[in-house]
Amino acid sequence: ETVKPSNFLRQIIEHDLEKSTYATRRWAGTPGDAAHQAAGEPDPAKIRTRFPPEPNGYLHVGHAKSICINFGLARDYGGVCHLRFDDTNPEKEDTEYVNSIIDAVKWLGFDWNGSQGDYSAAPYQASDYFGFMYRAAEYLIEAGYAYVDEQTAEQMRVNRGDFGKPGVDSPFRSRTPAENLRIFREMRDGKHEDGSMVLRAKIDMASPNINMRDPAIYRIRRATHHNTGDTWCIYPMYTYAHPIEDALEQITHSLCTLEFEDQRPFYDWLLERLTEVVTLPDGRVVGGLLASPPPKQYEFARLNLTYVITSKRKLAQLVYDHKVSGWDDPRMPTIVGLRRRGYTPAAIQTFADRIGVTKSDSWIDYSTLEGCLREDLELKAHRGMAVLNPVKLVLTNWDDVMGAGHLEPCSLPALPHPPEGVESPVRHFTIGKEVWIEREDFEEVPPKGYKRLFPGNKVRLKGGYVIECTGCTKDANGVITEVLATVVPDTKSGTPGADSVKVKAAITWVGVADGVNAEVRMYDRLFLDAHPDAGGKDFIESLNPNSLKVVTSIVEPSLANAKADDKFQFERHGYFVADRVDHAAGKPVFNLAVGLKDSWGK
Ligand code: ATP
Ligand code: MG
Ligand code: MG
Repeated sequence: ETVKPSNFLRQIIEHDLEKSTYATRRWAGTPGDAAHQAAGEPDPAKIRTRFPPEPNGYLHVGHAKSICINFGLARDYGGVCHLRFDDTNPEKEDTEYVNSIIDAVKWLGFDWNGSQGDYSAAPYQASDYFGFMYRAAEYLIEAGYAYVDEQTAEQMRVNRGDFGKPGVDSPFRSRTPAENLRIFREMRDGKHEDGSMVLRAKIDMASPNINMRDPAIYRIRRATHHNTGDTWCIYPMYTYAHPIEDALEQITHSLCTLEFEDQRPFYDWLLERLTEVVTLPDGRVVGGLLASPPPKQYEFARLNLTYVITSKRKLAQLVYDHKVSGWDDPRMPTIVGLRRRGYTPAAIQTFADRIGVTKSDSWIDYSTLEGCLREDLELKAHRGMAVLNPVKLVLTNWDDVMGAGHLEPCSLPALPHPPEGVESPVRHFTIGKEVWIEREDFEEVPPKGYKRLFPGNKVRLKGGYVIECTGCTKDANGVITEVLATVVPDTKSGTPGADSVKVKAAITWVGVADGVNAEVRMYDRLFLDAHPDAGGKDFIESLNPNSLKVVTSIVEPSLANAKADDKFQFERHGYFVADRVDHAAGKPVFNLAVGLKDSWGK
């Protein structure tokens, strides 16, 4: 196993494991609440991370980074990573997205919640904690940490102040706990209009951090939730719900992207309030709702990839405006799109390792991602010949020297560099009087240095014979219809006579007799601009009109027998995958996954 390079998250985790930071975790109060057992009784010696997508779209390559980090760290340090649907927003979620997220995590090679490959284990759902979140809100009210505010949204916005300008207290801020509790319960019971009031945390309206100026933690919203139905007409705000979800599941390291950095003080404030125990003026001792020490949040840089958009909302726009064929269009940076394009979990894992984890935002070159795929496929993908822009080559002396209608069997190894001790599989194909070659492999008048077919020149048909070009035929418009050549007998590859004639080039070809027509989808970058949505630009304007070209090509028989998802190197053209959706026996369809050489930024 290779040693992974250290990074700041690994250092934090190693420090916490060494100091047993979480091994002493306990409740100050009396738990007695089923929600405490949400995560079972976790092994305090283990770290717990989580990946908490909102099921409101398909995951993209940025999420893949987060998945590799969270699940990868748990795996590397003998811990557990929770897959949790952050489904606290009733309006946007959909089971189609839930299922696609489960598939994506599985495909990338991870299991969740310590299930050790048992994929029937249900992921966590934030909405399962609505009851606890509600009780925690009542506790905050009783302890004087929250109040119901009836200002309008506009008043609240204005009174919140701005950077360098302190906020103004709400006239409702000094309500008594009893009054707040009564009105909050009325909110829950549907006695007030949507948007007429919110519950706010009572922190500090003069805080330099705007997020600490009494953030809203509950709102009224009459909407049916996919999990809890119409049980609730009040819903917790994300900033309130998320720390509680982490704490209930006894997450140790809550890893998120940098834009949440200024939410961290509230994360800490809230969990501190919910772990402590207070004595109320009436003498009741309350609190200790969560175990201590609570989880800690750490931020890392999000993935920004050139020529790529990583925003679910903008990707959804491409889908709904039919700029692409769907979420799994091979040009999409979604995990389903990458998969259909021919990306492998190993390539994505390598990519995540290579870009590493940092604390400052930067742009990663798209070619880095492509390089990782090339590296993975180089050793694994079977080779094959495909003629993408075919012209027929006729061997005019074939019938005389080889026999009329003769087909000569040929073969080549499928893997030029098989793993140690493994013999490469062999591809079989035939050569006859007519073969398909690439149009660009013939020049009537050769440019300087041209080594392929031109009248009088000899080349090898790869894995076949040496041939000598004699000319071509053309139609009335001067378009070349056939290239003419003669076969040089006794020069077949792999026979003693193979080296008897020296040639400067070997060209790829496919026999007319056994070649199979295939649809080949040549993909290019979806956007022409390296930063399509930077600085508020309209990314639709930089869509590449030539991001897909469909060509009819002819492939050798071994390729025609591919199963959907099989990956190949089409010699000289690049790596291709049999399309997961459209490829079928008798109707081969291949997608260009990545070219042989880096062509980005050139
Ligand atoms: P989007 O903005 O695309 O909707 P999101 O952040 O709202 O993404 P979530 O479903 O909330 O999507 O994301 C789940 C996790 O994935 C979060 O922890 C988030 O930080 C992480 N994540 C999202 N985008 C990226 C990215 N580009 N790079 C790294 N991590 C990301
Ligand atoms: Mg989000
Ligand atoms: Mg978002």
